[in-house]
Amino acid sequence: ISVQDLVEASYNRIKEVDGQVNAFLTLNEEEAIAKAKELDEASEKSQRLFGMPSGIKDNIMTKGLRTTCASQFLDNFNEPLYNATVVEKLNKENTVTIGKLNMDEFAMGSSNENSSYTPTRNPWNTDYVPGGSSGGSAAAVAAGEVLFSLGSDTGGSIRQPAAFCGVVGLKPTYGLVSRFGLVAFASSLDQIGPITRNVEDNARVLEVIAGHDEMDSTSAAVDIPSYTESLTGDVNGLKIAVPKEYLAEGVAPEVKEAVQNALKVYESLGATWEEVSLPHSKYAVATYYLLSSSEASANLARFDGVRYGVRSENADNMIDMFKNSRSEGFGDEVKRRIMLGTFALSSGYYEAYYKKAQKVRTLIKNDFDKIFEDYDVVIGPTTPTPAFKVGENIDDPLTMYANDILTIPVNLAGVPGISLPCGFSEKGLPIGLQIIGKYFDESTVYRAAHAYE
Ligand code: GLN
Repeated sequence: ISVQDLVEASYNRIKEVDGQVNAFLTLNEEEAIAKAKELDEASEKSQRLFGMPSGIKDNIMTKGLRTTCASQFLDNFNEPLYNATVVEKLNKENTVTIGKLNMDEFAMGSSNENSSYTPTRNPWNTDYVPGGSSGGSAAAVAAGEVLFSLGSDTGGSIRQPAAFCGVVGLKPTYGLVSRFGLVAFASSLDQIGPITRNVEDNARVLEVIAGHDEMDSTSAAVDIPSYTESLTGDVNGLKIAVPKEYLAEGVAPEVKEAVQNALKVYESLGATWEEVSLPHSKYAVATYYLLSSSEASANLARFDGVRYGVRSENADNMIDMFKNSRSEGFGDEVKRRIMLGTFALSSGYYEAYYKKAQKVRTLIKNDFDKIFEDYDVVIGPTTPTPAFKVGENIDDPLTMYANDILTIPVNLAGVPGISLPCGFSEKGLPIGLQIIGKYFDESTVYRAAHAYE
């Protein structure tokens, strides 16, 4: 099969299904076909992801290709001037960018319903949400529109949609993958990661995008091992910790059962598991929304109608221009977070909220450190329930936030986590198994995931 055949197959599939799924915001068809033709003629075809059609979440900068963060504010941001480091790395391996993927506006959401364009639907059943915020990235892979995609995960945004769409999504250790060119939401939590159909593909993509980058001061100077070499199928002796909080009340019985069945598979492969506790995880959602909204309020200050995107026409002085550009450009959820974050950072409240939340974050990190003294991985569900219906939670932000209860602690601690399929609900929707590892130990996470898969 030629690269051109592969890339054309991708666009044909998009034409067939994307009218219902809405995974793509922008297509790159002309450029992609031209690149495919070039690659078919190339004499050197040894790159690791040569010719692979990929989709990129629309908060990752792609030079000359529209990047909107699914926000009306950036609706006219048609010509980004540079590529994110991850995109540069994919280009070096000669992957083909098929287009940019739908998401919750500025990555704030768990259902894609906060996209300011038509929200993405779950390809398994279009009455249901695909998850978020990387819902387009997960749906495009699940619907067979691309072979892999990149998402970003601040509080679960790769793992939760991967779980809802029945695909594999990894949030790397904080600092493993460069954030240069990722539009910042909460800089101390954001990580870019791969979404794929299976664990091996995921490991291959991570091998390419990981690594130190001098353009990101939080990027770690670590050697990148061959993750694919760790896919031995051998988990004999692996020590698994199962936090009791991850199978507690609020987790749907069918989700619990799927995870318990997965643990039986691990037992049959020679691994052992024990119940442990993450005692501070009950504070994780509150901590996360305080910290992430505080960081977001600062990061989103750059959207002022001067430097990027759409400027309000309804203003005759500078202050009104700032105000009206922001009022008209941002959606409700983004405004809610900016207001919460600005409040939490304001003098007089900083000690009571932001500083306290930072202390709780340390306690959550310590919970994980303690478990990892005795165990190799932590296993539980990715989400308390399978995908919910479009419209079901949209008017109830607190229920929506509670959906991230099992993914958020992982971002607060900074450790890596993967979601992979572990069965289906009664309604035929996928259920996700979450495997969490030690800092920079993606190899063990992948080995454990691959052995189960
Ligand atoms: N759903 C969470 C939120 O709304 C996580 C988002 C993310 O990881 N980008 O903040």
